[in-house]
Amino acid sequence: KKIRVGVVFGGRSGEHEVSLASAQSVMRQINPEKYDIVPIGITKEGAWVRGADPTKLLEAGTPVALPEGTAEGTAHVVALSGDPTLQSLIATEEEDQSAIDVIFPVTHGTFGEDGALQGLLEMANVAYVGCGVLGSALGMDKEKMKLIFQQVGLPVGPFTVFRRNEWERAPETILDKIEQELGYPTFVKPANLGSSVGINKAHNREELIHAIKVAAEYDRKIVVEKGINCREFECAVLGNDEPIVSVVGEVIPSNEFYDYRAKYIDNKSQIVIPADIPQETAEQIRKMAIQAFIALDLSGLSRIDFFLNKDTGEVLINEVNTLPGFTQVSMYAMLWEASGIPYPELIDRLIELALERHEDRQ
Ligand code: ATP
Ligand code: MG
Ligand code: MG
Ligand code: MG
Repeated sequence: KKIRVGVVFGGRSGEHEVSLASAQSVMRQINPEKYDIVPIGITKEGAWVRGADPTKLLEAGTPVALPEGTAEGTAHVVALSGDPTLQSLIATEEEDQSAIDVIFPVTHGTFGEDGALQGLLEMANVAYVGCGVLGSALGMDKEKMKLIFQQVGLPVGPFTVFRRNEWERAPETILDKIEQELGYPTFVKPANLGSSVGINKAHNREELIHAIKVAAEYDRKIVVEKGINCREFECAVLGNDEPIVSVVGEVIPSNEFYDYRAKYIDNKSQIVIPADIPQETAEQIRKMAIQAFIALDLSGLSRIDFFLNKDTGEVLINEVNTLPGFTQVSMYAMLWEASGIPYPELIDRLIELALERHEDRQ
């Protein structure tokens, strides 16, 4: 009997579009001999749409107009609030009574990668790919993540955190503090996001003010970091309690930093796998990646991002991504490809890990 996999994509996130691309890749590459796919789209407004084609979700905007009686079946829009049974969100068509065995959330950012969706799936007692509630939440919160890294001795760059209301009350105090403690350039980030959405580099006070205003539109908590003159490395981790780690890759952004444009639009950023660094440095990064995975209580998968400070030679951990971009040409998949795990097998392993973790927790 085939394993039924519900692929969840889209969602109320600044990374909605990125998720659609990831989901398409998964649906195309998953082994059809072994798995049945049930696509589950979430619109930008948060409506759940079953049987949705990710491209349609992308084109139609919201609310999603799905063609009637498509091959995927009639679309059902299920409003969360209107439905008392969480299970019914992911229940299949009436004529097909077989339940979904595992959910593959291919959702990035808010609500999909931060533990919200994971909590819903826990409540519904369904197996799902990736990190649990705590790991997802920690991996999304750039402040709490850094606090835990510091706690286990993983080196992070200088940073400061404040809330939107503090900014509104005393902007001058915050600006002075940032200038004294961090100087320029600084990176201003919404605490909980991804794909560089809402992130700006500030070279002076004027840019800093603008950057804070932008970040504050996305989040009530803002993280400001000292700008590191750096090379950027990424590493992929796979597993539950005994995670394995890929070779190290380097990202060479096409812009001044690896912003949304450089990631998804320009197509000019370079990815070098394996990274051209001394073996020692690569081993150090790989070791730190596993340490971070365990420290944040992650499971399934994560991509861990590092900076190599060009001035000091020091390796710093930047962040983790618990549901990293997951197309076939995304860094996560390419790192595993180069480490001997091709994309369809990667999907396979992730599903096995999800079922294993679910079993462990029963
Ligand atoms: P992802 O798409 O990986 O989830 P994200 O939105 O979580 O990204 P970060 O990885 O924190 O954001 O930062 C995005 C990019 O901004 C980095 O890849 C890097 O190019 C640049 N950057 C961020 N922080 C710093 C810093 N402190 N010093 C130098 N560059 C930085
Ligand atoms: Mg991130
Ligand atoms: Mg991310
Ligand atoms: Mg990153």
